[in-house]
Amino acid sequence: MSDKALIVGVGLGGLLCGQILRRKGWKVTLLEADDAPGGVLRPFLWEGTLCERGFHSVGGLGPGEPLEKLFRPLGLMELPWYRAGADEGFPFLRLNSGSDYELEHILGPYKQSTWRLKGGGQCLVDALASDLDIRCGKEVTGIENQVVICKDGERFEAPVVISSLPPVQSLGLLKDHLRPSYAHRLRKLETGPGITTLYCRTAPGCVPWQSGAIFLEDLMLHFGEPETGILELLCFGEGQPEQMIEKASRRLPGLQVQSYLLCQNHGYGIRKHSAVDFVAPRTPLPWFFLSGENLGLHGILGTTITAYNTCKTIES
Ligand SMILES: Cc1cc2nc3c(=O)[nH]c(=O)nc-3n(C[C@H](O)[C@H](O)[C@H](O)COP(=O)(O)OP(=O)(O)OC[C@H]3O[C@@H](n4cnc5c(N)ncnc54)[C@H](O)[C@@H]3O)c2cc1C
Repeated sequence: MSDKALIVGVGLGGLLCGQILRRKGWKVTLLEADDAPGGVLRPFLWEGTLCERGFHSVGGLGPGEPLEKLFRPLGLMELPWYRAGADEGFPFLRLNSGSDYELEHILGPYKQSTWRLKGGGQCLVDALASDLDIRCGKEVTGIENQVVICKDGERFEAPVVISSLPPVQSLGLLKDHLRPSYAHRLRKLETGPGITTLYCRTAPGCVPWQSGAIFLEDLMLHFGEPETGILELLCFGEGQPEQMIEKASRRLPGLQVQSYLLCQNHGYGIRKHSAVDFVAPRTPLPWFFLSGENLGLHGILGTTITAYNTCKTIES
């Protein structure tokens, strides 16, 4: 197999594929539509405060645990991880009316151990992005016969192309003919609900700040760093700000919200009722491969397992 690859989409999935291949001696170029890499791991600035989007905690980073085994070869265990309170993180998944299969496989590592990262998602992105050839502001609008075409007209060519976008979005970019049964199967797969996050700026001292998260019915109340004063309220599907605040106030009676920002993100990708719903990294085109959270299990662990799987498939 050749040693030059293009990667479309530079969220966690694209970054991991880039690092794994680079460490094996591949020459990799990554194309990102946004003005910086990271996808949902990238925090954003709101009213002068950096807010997390798709990163709160991970499970299974203790010695010999599943994520530790995958992160160590990439140098990611050098980052300032610290252990979170028991049970933090994983109860949220129970709110997701997620399939039993997803719960069983995603919750297991959180039960082993739960971890947070000083510096959050951006710290992980910076570590993965170093030494990679990342081109930002490159929205890919077409892929045809090993050529990737960007909105600004620039074209990139390589013997191997990986898309870390949702499979149906990748299909929409491909101009090459694919057998209809393959496309039909991908289009039929069910996508899980999005995640609504309400970022609440709270009045000083109105809630007893604590590390981590608490859970209330279908809501996760996530406390960031105390000095930010930002309390995140998360739920699956579409949340209404007033109802979310009202519900949170039942758990935190003194809560005073000074301002808020409502954000809707895609959730955890394609829902998996069993491994039958997994999407293979290999496609009917021998030079075109898939990766990202949609293929296997979701979240940081799931996306990492998939990235290794994609790279192994390419080299086999
Ligand atoms: C609110 C929220 C909280 C979460 N919390 C946790 C958590 O605490 N722990 C955990 O393990 N997981 C968590 N997750 C899940 C985890 O963040 C994701 O599973 C993972 O980051 C997904 O990475 P990805 O690369 O597959 O997708 P994305 O991050 O979506 O990356 C896709 C990238 O492709 C780019 N792109 C799209 N279209 C194009 C195009 N045409 N051309 C070029 N580039 C394009 C996008 O800009 C983006 O950068 C959370 C997710 C959300 C939404």
